[in-house]
Amino acid sequence: RKLVGKLTTGCEEFDEMMGGGIESQSITEMYGEFGCGKTQVAHQLAVNVQLPPEQGGLGGSVVIIDTENTFRPERIEQMVRGLSEKHGIEYDPEEFLKNIHVARAYNSNHQILLVESASELANELKDSEMPVKLLIVDSLTAHFRAEYIGRGTLADRQQKLNKHLHDIQRFGDLFNACVIVTNQVMSKPDAFFGDPTKPIGGHILGHTATFRLYIRKSKGDKRIVKLVDSPNLPDGEAIMSITTEGLGD
Ligand code: ADP
Ligand code: MG
Repeated sequence: RKLVGKLTTGCEEFDEMMGGGIESQSITEMYGEFGCGKTQVAHQLAVNVQLPPEQGGLGGSVVIIDTENTFRPERIEQMVRGLSEKHGIEYDPEEFLKNIHVARAYNSNHQILLVESASELANELKDSEMPVKLLIVDSLTAHFRAEYIGRGTLADRQQKLNKHLHDIQRFGDLFNACVIVTNQVMSKPDAFFGDPTKPIGGHILGHTATFRLYIRKSKGDKRIVKLVDSPNLPDGEAIMSITTEGLGD
């Protein structure tokens, strides 16, 4: 087993709650309502992972499996400019964008295949200057939710999602990479999926994701991130902000 890496979120409280940052070789699930900031955190981590370890990064590149077409290069540029200000170092946004490999997933089968493509790329880059150190699946569940509707198909959906998660976990282990998946919860009770505060795929995801983070909106640009049921860390809450410059305290 390789030494576990820790990736900074850019928010001190958040990092502390995670025992120093997002861990490699584990799946970290972020769940919460639409607009709570899951994709924003994903963008920030895609930037931070490229920083050298002295600056909280893992000196690596990132693969984003984008299922909702929410990746925005302009947002990366803003965040890189924010980091330049914060660190007093002139980073080049173009250099950061080069190390973000985005693949759009058109349906759940395609999404599953893209993990294989990600592995191929990670193998190619393994001995390069920027090995893949982060895999993001944003959203993990949206296609599954849209495609498998009704009680009769729930078991199929869970089985497929479960296999997908195993592939993802394997990626994290193999490349000593961080893995981030997002999962939207509904704001209103839903007849099919029951308890609105529980993410879909609840049971299986509950066992696979090593770190589960529930994000909710607070005042202004503040967000509350809650660590739920971690096997080796105490439950906790952190307050982070999302501004033009990116994630912060
Ligand atoms: P989710 O993925 O959980 O549905 P997002 O990550 O897309 O939600 O979060 C969207 C929110 O992030 C917006 O409502 C806004 O509060 C914040 N946000 C997005 N872009 C910016 C920006 N450029 N500057 C400041 N805040 C932003
Ligand atoms: Mg999103």
